[in-house]
Amino acid sequence: MKEPILRVRDLTTQLKLTKGIYPVVDRVSFDLHGGKTLAVVGESGCGKSLTALSIMRILPTPPALPSTGEVIYKGVNLLKLSEKEMRKIRGARIAMIFQDPMSSLNPVYTIGQQLSEVAELHLELYGDEALEKSLQALNDVGITNAADRLNDYPHQLSGGMKQRVMIAMALMCEPDILIADEPTTALDVTIQAQVLELMRHLQRKKGMALLLITHDMGVVAEMADDVIVMYATQNVEFGSVQRIFDNRSHPYTQGLFESRPQNQKPKQRLHVIKGTVPSIVDMPSGCHFHPRCPYVMEICKTGEVPYFDIEDAEHQAKCWLFDPHLKGDRHA
Ligand code: SF4
Repeated sequence: MKEPILRVRDLTTQLKLTKGIYPVVDRVSFDLHGGKTLAVVGESGCGKSLTALSIMRILPTPPALPSTGEVIYKGVNLLKLSEKEMRKIRGARIAMIFQDPMSSLNPVYTIGQQLSEVAELHLELYGDEALEKSLQALNDVGITNAADRLNDYPHQLSGGMKQRVMIAMALMCEPDILIADEPTTALDVTIQAQVLELMRHLQRKKGMALLLITHDMGVVAEMADDVIVMYATQNVEFGSVQRIFDNRSHPYTQGLFESRPQNQKPKQRLHVIKGTVPSIVDMPSGCHFHPRCPYVMEICKTGEVPYFDIEDAEHQAKCWLFDPHLKGDRHA
């Protein structure tokens, strides 16, 4: 297999709070390949977005401590770069879009001014050249009457249009990697489908890798090549999308799948995973999922849980149920 464009190993980020230091991303590892989509799934508060922000190095320090582990891009560990070096990569080679376009668009500048600023900053294009590039970027994401839209302010655009502008801004420099954090969650279903199709089209055209953060298994099925499932700061299962869908193994992954609304018959109550995601300041010992797990065993309650192969090393779960030596000891 080709070398990944991004190799993340044991990425760990901790927050320093008044009562102590707590991990919010705990030894997360994965490979992201050029032209492929890796989906990061899990409930809110599991550390998906913080993983992305740690890769981009845009978490405020403090309260975050500098991340540890490795984020290897083109042979270089991004965590070791100076802020000046990182600025050349962030936005240009690795771009990010967020759920809420307004968090990225400045309400007091026109779309043209904001796109031109990106062209100036990363592509060293100025004046008419920057505007020309901005126009091209809007055309690339299928915005009609793009020349007129350059003069619009963000509030004059619909939610779907704003998300397209964000994608245009992120892709202007033709990044190798696009990190998309719940890019369609705030959009209507029809607009969601359009934006996903647009991302897929641009990914094919430009060959970039996509790190897609979502809690929506439908989006995962449609977009992903590979999947990692995060629970309470950790990666608890990973594999190809086919394997995860055909043979979901970790009890948390199973719960996520069973909670999908499309599995329900009319008026049938939605399956819920009992309990809630634990707070970072009160993380359960042993397997973080053990208070919510229907298969909990004594061994689950203390100590580190290793990763075990499901079919082989390409699909693993962090769960004692898959320890070949523990057969017969399944219940506490
Ligand atoms: Fe459940 Fe134990 Fe597996 Fe955790 S390690 S998911 S508690 S069976």
